[in-house]
Amino acid sequence: MTATMTYHNLIGGKWVDARSGRTFTSASPANRDDVIGTFPASGVEDVDAAVAAAKGAFSGWSLTPAPKRGEILFKVARLLAEHKEELARLMTREMGKVLPEARGDVQEAIDVAYYMAGEGRRLFGMTVPSEMPDKFAMAIRRPIGVAGIITPWNFPIAIPAWKLFPALICGDTAVIKPASDTPACVVRFAEILMEGGIPDGVLNVVTGSGDAVGHPLVEHPDVRIISFTGHTETGIDISTRAAQTLKRVSLELGGKNPIVIWEDADLQLALDSVVWSAFGTSGQRCTAASRLIVHRNVHDQFLEMLRKRVASLVLGDGLEEKTDVGPVINDRAVERIAGYAAIGRNEAELVIGGEPANDGALARGSFFQPTIFTDVKPDARIAQEEIFGPVTSVIPVDDWEETVRIVNSVKYGLSTSLFTRVVNLAFRSIRDFDSGLGYVNHGTIGAEAHLPFGGTKATGNGHREVGQAALDFFSEWKSVYVDYSGKLQRAQIDTTFVDQG
Ligand code: NAP
Repeated sequence: MTATMTYHNLIGGKWVDARSGRTFTSASPANRDDVIGTFPASGVEDVDAAVAAAKGAFSGWSLTPAPKRGEILFKVARLLAEHKEELARLMTREMGKVLPEARGDVQEAIDVAYYMAGEGRRLFGMTVPSEMPDKFAMAIRRPIGVAGIITPWNFPIAIPAWKLFPALICGDTAVIKPASDTPACVVRFAEILMEGGIPDGVLNVVTGSGDAVGHPLVEHPDVRIISFTGHTETGIDISTRAAQTLKRVSLELGGKNPIVIWEDADLQLALDSVVWSAFGTSGQRCTAASRLIVHRNVHDQFLEMLRKRVASLVLGDGLEEKTDVGPVINDRAVERIAGYAAIGRNEAELVIGGEPANDGALARGSFFQPTIFTDVKPDARIAQEEIFGPVTSVIPVDDWEETVRIVNSVKYGLSTSLFTRVVNLAFRSIRDFDSGLGYVNHGTIGAEAHLPFGGTKATGNGHREVGQAALDFFSEWKSVYVDYSGKLQRAQIDTTFVDQG
């Protein structure tokens, strides 16, 4: 077991306790006796101090040439790569995902850092011809101000990076509130960023609960932007509070993602992808495949292949090489998932799993058996609600129209996937499945750092993360006209219209 550490808030470049002196702890979900650290249980006064520091640093940072900001991010990317193994191990210990996945989480942060470092030399605006002679027209990106960043525990380093790096390259400063289940990952991430040369006050971290830290951050009049990832209900609350001060708000919320397996699909490929998409990160991904819509002609064959594979999955501590599926985040999650398993037993047929896993060393942590239900009705609760655990529902189908209806019948619209060799169906799925991410012959997981990420309907409020789309959220457009004609030229009035004589 590794030693318990004392962690601090980062405010104005200093590592400090909560003003109240209060603390909380974070423990490993694989072994609740393994306490990772103590953290400031912060409150409104700590948020005020962090926002004041971020506001104070804004002028210097936003006036730093973007290519210089990019150079700092480039150095940060290199440092994150150097610390990748250390960060991944801390993540597995604090959050539970198996080590190869934790390495992938850190790699996402590295990828976004490199991508956004390059943006320092682009941050493209636009120039367009004016309708007037001797007049210049362009639109430039401007920094906005202080960004409040509120992150979940399931991607404890990638998601803060997705939000922070575009904010920083655009010239904004930031206050991050990490999830209370994974504060160590974010504090260690911030330490490495500061080592990379982020100036004091540009990045601040305040740990503590959603109520005590999240609310004052969202309501603070000097915070201009809120970027949030988490549950849909939390997002609605944040959006409502932020509306009082007309903040710009980006919400990345829940999912209920389907994989469609058509009758002609390569079943072996579909099997590998389903196991990865449904049970990777113990099903605790916003893009997890929690619905399998399977053509009735291959349903029995595929289900038996899946049952066998799932029966062979090894549960355990994510730090151990033999582990396929790690714990879920905490005991409350085990209870919630068990509640859904009970609902599922009444709504459908249980194929495998359905219980908390307590054998041997598993009793020390929060584990749930990988679970499959079949003969699930499309409108059953287990097929409609986000369970956020290792549970997936098989829905047999007969025809394509019915499939499209079922895919789109949930309130979320994050990731959809189709396995087929029929090219016409592949393109129809791209057109007709209502989601922000679409895959063909690949599971619901696999987004890369340079394309927009986000969803439709209750998965968000229309914004996208990473890639170019993130720059549109973290910067403000300013349209600029320079008239060098030396006379008054009235747009729309002093113009000669060719088709109106
Ligand atoms: P959560 O309970 O909504 O919490 C997310 C963050 O918000 C945490 O830092 C939490 O603090 C804070 N918070 C909670 N209530 C708050 C409030 N009223 N005001 C301000 N902040 C508040 O979500 P989670 O359990 O961490 O994450 C799982 C959810 O995230 C799932 O629904 C998943 O689908 C979604 N997710 C979506 C995406 C995407 O890109 N669409 C990606 C990953 C995850 P505490 O930890 O202190 O409670």
